[in-house]
Amino acid sequence: MNLSPGQVAKAPFAEPVALLTRHHKAALIAPELAKLGLSLIATDAYDTDQLGTFSGEVARTLSPLDCARTKARLACELTGCTFGLGSEGSFGGGPFPGIVPWNDELLLLYDQMTGQEIVAHAGMAVALNSVETDELAQLRQHLAKHDAKQGWILQGPDGWQKGLQGEPAVLAALTSSAFLSSDGRLRQAVLLQPDLRAHMCPPRQVVIQQAAAQLVQRMSALCPQCDAPDFWVNGCERGLPCRDCGFLTSQIRSTIKRCSRCDHQEHQPAPATWADPMHCPNCNP
Ligand SMILES: [Zn+2]
Ligand SMILES: [Zn+2]
Repeated sequence: MNLSPGQVAKAPFAEPVALLTRHHKAALIAPELAKLGLSLIATDAYDTDQLGTFSGEVARTLSPLDCARTKARLACELTGCTFGLGSEGSFGGGPFPGIVPWNDELLLLYDQMTGQEIVAHAGMAVALNSVETDELAQLRQHLAKHDAKQGWILQGPDGWQKGLQGEPAVLAALTSSAFLSSDGRLRQAVLLQPDLRAHMCPPRQVVIQQAAAQLVQRMSALCPQCDAPDFWVNGCERGLPCRDCGFLTSQIRSTIKRCSRCDHQEHQPAPATWADPMHCPNCNP
């Protein structure tokens, strides 16, 4: 069962959900949870940067999934809530790694009572690039191509300056780092990188909202057998027969929804009954 907009779920979730964040993610996620009548309690009682930063001062040793899992459990511990939510983003994957900049976001909801984890994903190409130049005009052009709310990081002689939103903030940082001369020229090449923290990165905010929307769908998708949430597609069956010769191809025949609590499964046939012969190793070897 999927939730249509405005519909309220049956409630395995009757209590508030705790979120551990230092980067203002609650405002992005709370409106989605509100559709289930759930409130979100945000805590910043733990510095999530200790688990790794995008800018690299703290190395990331955990996978994004383990990092979200750790944050979700900490959220429960710090607030005493039964339900904890962890959010973690990563950059670089996607369909064309190294060519198209890509942002993946995952949200993990942990139920301390049952131990169940619900993991929602979203991913999107994001047009965010660094620039290295000794021409102020080029730097300005680069900033103008991005959202004015996008934050930037400048690597200066005394370390990093982060969270520089908009041209005036970047110019002020260049001046204070003595990169910018009084006649408005750059004294040397500077490297300006996008600040990827959620509150500084508008494209990420969109992807986090999408992950939150999927999370709410998963929380509302109850197993028809045992009523547990997250009755969701977790596999597929291949072998759609060829339209011309009936040979079983590697095309998807059905998707499989499975309950992680009671193992109940349902097969949903693919929209197509036959595979195009172009996918058939018999007709198109
Ligand atoms: Zn079940
Ligand atoms: Zn065939």
